[in-house]
Amino acid sequence: MKKPPIIWLNTLFFSTTFLAAVTLVPWYGFTYGYSTANWIAFIACMFYCGLSITAGYHRLWAHKTYETHPVIEFIFAIGGAFSIQNSALHWSSDHRIHHGKVDDPEKDPYAATRGFWYSHIGWMLREYQAHRYTDYSNCRDLQKNRVVMWQHKHYLVLSIITNFGIPLLLGLIFGNVWGMLLLAGLLRLVLSQHFTFFINSLAHIWGSRPYTESNTARDNGFLAFLTYGEGYHNFHHIFASDYRNGIQWWHYDPTKWLIKSLSLVGLASKLRKTPQEIIERAKAATLMERTKQTLLKKEANDKQIEKLQKEYDLLLSKLQHYYKVRKRVLEMRKNKVIKQCEQSQLKKQYNEIKAALINQQEYWLALNKALIKELAIN
Ligand SMILES: [Zn+2]
Ligand SMILES: [Zn+2]
Repeated sequence: MKKPPIIWLNTLFFSTTFLAAVTLVPWYGFTYGYSTANWIAFIACMFYCGLSITAGYHRLWAHKTYETHPVIEFIFAIGGAFSIQNSALHWSSDHRIHHGKVDDPEKDPYAATRGFWYSHIGWMLREYQAHRYTDYSNCRDLQKNRVVMWQHKHYLVLSIITNFGIPLLLGLIFGNVWGMLLLAGLLRLVLSQHFTFFINSLAHIWGSRPYTESNTARDNGFLAFLTYGEGYHNFHHIFASDYRNGIQWWHYDPTKWLIKSLSLVGLASKLRKTPQEIIERAKAATLMERTKQTLLKKEANDKQIEKLQKEYDLLLSKLQHYYKVRKRVLEMRKNKVIKQCEQSQLKKQYNEIKAALINQQEYWLALNKALIKELAIN
């Protein structure tokens, strides 16, 4: 099949900035050296670009996982232009298609099923989907947003002003203009772009799939570190309307922390969160299916499959019971009228059910492991 025409603007832009970054940045460093201010500005600009894409483009506009003050929207819009990742409107339109048609080699704009290169950067180098480049019908909500439309209209000029203006200004304030242009300008631009691109490429190839195996998206803690928390991509693809990507407190997800902090000072609201019970169910179902498929492939006996099914059903019923009682405990805390003895009884019951659920969860994980191990030995 004949390949679509090359988009020369993108191809030249990505290749020259990349080549300039890998040659000029180290050359200048070895010849003249960079100051501490250069490095601090580089890291600050990396975070500004990265978080504008993750908290702004991705979680605010593409997925509407929360609402925020227009001033914060404006800051994200400027940061998005600084990142040169197209306008928020265009980016969100592509991304909504990616979620709706994930892995479809024709419809997903950056389908991972077409390989690393295509999903990372190749999709932007040729006119693969020229027919829909100006079709924003899947973003009618964003077309009503004044900040989004203002940024879309002035995207090019904003990108040029921020990419030259911010490093130049920092250079004039802190000294060493060339050092700032190379680190906070060039290296920051190339790295922040490729780190975002890793979400479309590596986060669909490398990592685990605890929540769903219905698409290629992976959870990967290392990628989360490079992408301000977006590396928990398997979770994100199944629960895309959740403002979090890393759901454990110890998951590195600075985007989630930023959104939560904004909400604590009254600058963000309506943070959407998936109920924990649904997350637990998805996890249990994914593990169940994976183990079952392995057992069937290796011709396990009926007893083993029956046992797996029985413990799975038990786990689901304990999960349901636990969350039901938990809801009552939470209601009770709000409603102070309930008698003391009733309260302590409910609390006792809650603790027992919780312990039983934890037991069952541990047993369930051990059983899955043991069944697979048994088959490997036989
Ligand atoms: Zn994805
Ligand atoms: Zn997404």
